[in-house]
Amino acid sequence: MSAVPLRNDKPATHGVRKVTVLGATGSIGDSTMDLLRASPERYQVEALTANSNVEGLAKLAIEFNARFAAVADPAKLGELRAALDGTGIACGAGEQAVIEAAARPSDWVMAAVAGAAGLKPALAAVDRGATVALANKECLVCAGEFFMERAAAANACILPADSEHNALFQALASGNRDELTKVIITASGGPFRTWAAADIEQATLAQALKHPNWSMGQKITIDSASMMNKGLEVIEASWLFALTPDEIEVVVHPQSIIHGMVEFSDRSVVAQLGAPDMRIPIAHCLGWPERIIGRAAPLDLTKIGQLTFEAPDFVRFPGLRLAYDALRAGNGATTVYNAANEIAVAAFVKEQIRFGAIARLVEETLNSWIRSGNLAPLSSADEAIAVDHKARNLAASLLPQIAAKAS
Ligand code: NAD
Ligand code: MG
Repeated sequence: MSAVPLRNDKPATHGVRKVTVLGATGSIGDSTMDLLRASPERYQVEALTANSNVEGLAKLAIEFNARFAAVADPAKLGELRAALDGTGIACGAGEQAVIEAAARPSDWVMAAVAGAAGLKPALAAVDRGATVALANKECLVCAGEFFMERAAAANACILPADSEHNALFQALASGNRDELTKVIITASGGPFRTWAAADIEQATLAQALKHPNWSMGQKITIDSASMMNKGLEVIEASWLFALTPDEIEVVVHPQSIIHGMVEFSDRSVVAQLGAPDMRIPIAHCLGWPERIIGRAAPLDLTKIGQLTFEAPDFVRFPGLRLAYDALRAGNGATTVYNAANEIAVAAFVKEQIRFGAIARLVEETLNSWIRSGNLAPLSSADEAIAVDHKARNLAASLLPQIAAKAS
């Protein structure tokens, strides 16, 4: 049985729901807290976590009267204790404290830590059979098969919070899984959609951070500019809905109004539409299996005027092609894809490499990994994390030669 429910097959929830937000100080965290703030009578916050932003975390913990707050940076324990002094809110610091936050009893968990660091906390929530709204796509890209198996074994319920996957989740409810012929996820095309390859190569950080439609965290915004984000999402869709690479199509849709579509055997295509506002998919996850009152602006199609579509360009955006390659290779290749991309994005942010070198570093790392005979099935979180670490080291070792090479 899949951990992603295919129909609204859970009884409606009544009473106060206990919720935990992992990555509460981030962009998804902020949207989640905005929805929680709107209905204080419905939700009780159990735990909140952040990486190092103690001030933001403490402020939220006090506002929502959380039971527990955890900061990932172990050096910040004293600061967090001082900020929560006299409030009665328990706190902790370090990776283990973030995992503890996820493991504490709550009905619903938003998994919105950025990057592969989100895997262990998300697993802690999954293992206790929680309902997990999964924003952190890296969990699935790093350890998808294993993650979904653990979720099914623990009877956890995974609700896709990424907008495209949430759209697929909603569209899938109008048919049976065995009637699906393919899914289509849309991509805005990012700020470089119409740029020539030579200009994309030289793009600056400020240019990469100017997303045309969505306001998001730094890493995912850069991934959107390189279309690595869509690559990560193709892999994410494959694990969430048990799809082969050939069943997942990407269409560039610059207006970001249609987020995902499912084609069924009778050639009906069911789409989900909405403004590009993450509070829409998050509200769907928060209310599921009911609908709650949203906070995003209503959709006015007459103002938008046109919805347009283009085929993705795998030459100017090689990161998307590499995701399909990694998915087909399997056996940890998608873990390597993600790890190399995290190293590449960090290097780009530090201005150590050009924008165009992000995809080159990912490709070199994947090729080198495969040439060395490293592909092997992953059967535990520790194995996935070991591959992640090894691939990061490999990518870091290849960085100087990639940085030195002109395109
Ligand atoms: P963000 O950078 O704005 O926030 C990340 C959160 O995780 C922050 O609270 C930060 O303190 C915490 N964090 C970072 N590193 C950590 C670590 N090592 N240990 C513990 N906590 C850590 O990121 P975001 O844009 O909110 O994205 C979060 C996740 O959601 C990512 O996986 C992203 O791909 C996914 N996502 C985001 C959006 C979006 O619109 N922002 C859309 C879809 C999916
Ligand atoms: Mg998305």
